[in-house]
Amino acid sequence: MDKNNLYRSIPKVDILLEDPMIRRLRKRYGHEMVMEEIREQTDHLRERIRISTDSEEESVMAAVADLIPSICRETERLAAPRVRRVINATGTILHTNLGRAPISRRHAQHLTEIVTGYSNLEFDLAKRDRSERYAHFEDLLCRLTGAEAAMVVNNNAAAVMLILSTLAKGGEVIVSRGELVEIGGKFRIPDVCSASGAILAEVGTTNKTHLSDYEEAITEQTRAILKVHPSNYHIVGFTESVPVKDLKPLAEEKDVVLIEDLGSGVLVDLSRYGRLYEPTVQESVAAGADVVCFSGDKLLGGPQAGIIIGKKKYIQAMKKNPLTRALRVDKFTVAALEMVLLEYLREDTAREHIPVLRMITESQESVAARAERLARLLLRLGCPADIHTEACESQVGGGSLPMERIPSMAVVIRSEKIRTARLEQELLQLPVPILGRTIGDAIWLDVRTLDEEELTLVAEGLKEVLA
Ligand SMILES: *Cc1c(COP(=O)(O)O)cnc(C)c1O
Repeated sequence: MDKNNLYRSIPKVDILLEDPMIRRLRKRYGHEMVMEEIREQTDHLRERIRISTDSEEESVMAAVADLIPSICRETERLAAPRVRRVINATGTILHTNLGRAPISRRHAQHLTEIVTGYSNLEFDLAKRDRSERYAHFEDLLCRLTGAEAAMVVNNNAAAVMLILSTLAKGGEVIVSRGELVEIGGKFRIPDVCSASGAILAEVGTTNKTHLSDYEEAITEQTRAILKVHPSNYHIVGFTESVPVKDLKPLAEEKDVVLIEDLGSGVLVDLSRYGRLYEPTVQESVAAGADVVCFSGDKLLGGPQAGIIIGKKKYIQAMKKNPLTRALRVDKFTVAALEMVLLEYLREDTAREHIPVLRMITESQESVAARAERLARLLLRLGCPADIHTEACESQVGGGSLPMERIPSMAVVIRSEKIRTARLEQELLQLPVPILGRTIGDAIWLDVRTLDEEELTLVAEGLKEVLA
């Protein structure tokens, strides 16, 4: 092979710059970025020629011929956002990898207004004075939960960290061995304790912890008792744990703070809608917990946040902790969280307007009707595949209600022409990627996590891939 000839076939930079496609690219993305891509790709081509063998001549020639389109593709890819909308047809409602709780369009609209201009984030318009960013919904949180005071940090992991660092640093915090939870993403209660400067005092056993275990563990060094809700696992059989209500008299007598990490933080009793019972935030406060924390983006259905509520003196101490500044929430969170909390003033509208609650409580009949609409849409578009609806089970996910299986309905797609693994991969390459579940030789789209407005998008995406 004549390598010199191949080297010469790479267009010179000034020729490339005059190419109509490259000129359009420069106009759109600027000279610098395009120049850098040209340099990178021509260097790469030269290197490829240098190391190529005779048998590769044809593929090298093809790469040279593809140089200009390739420069265009790469520049466009570089300038396009990587965080993109995806369609969740997995049936897992709180999918941590997919951003957990979606925010409704009506709330997002308000959010847009707040973040695209200035806002009274830390300004009291009545008093014409500086204020706290939580002030906007502290009263609301107290009203909804029965607590005296409230604040919010970046996420619930940060909340636990801040609570322990403020109330138990340098002293001991007692936790039952049945509640030494790992949440995922490196959040483990023992590690959080040590990172916060508190010393963990484990009591009881994996399956059983009694009140007397707590009683015997309290010493001069004890600052707090921490209850952790086992949100992502379930211990069954010969078990016993001590609820907050029973720990309350002991904590009072010994003057230690009673803390509960609820994890999910649900404000409505889900068992009323046929789901498994999950202890509510209000119940924890009423049972006597001094400080309670929970996530904003699990069962509450809001933005990522760690909500801390409880006795005024403890919340005030936390607000003064320098860590609070490092863990503080931004205006996106504040605005979105306030919108979501306002919905909880009425349970029926909360169910309607908070996507997570709507998805959890929607009846199977209602999901099935939507599944039928999707299946009909696919048939009407003439999708060349075997398409039918079939009952399935959704799950809550996000480390919440691990035992819950919600009866749901899926659209099942089986293609004669495309292997399922390939179909799955192509669905992920769509402009709006679609994630379903692969079961056997079919793709299952669980319709519980699809909203009505997504049906057309799903149908058109499928049609494109199947065609
Ligand atoms: C999920 C969870 C956390 C962590 O909450 P993030 O908001 O994800 O940081 C902490 N504790 C418990 C019990 C949880 O379930």
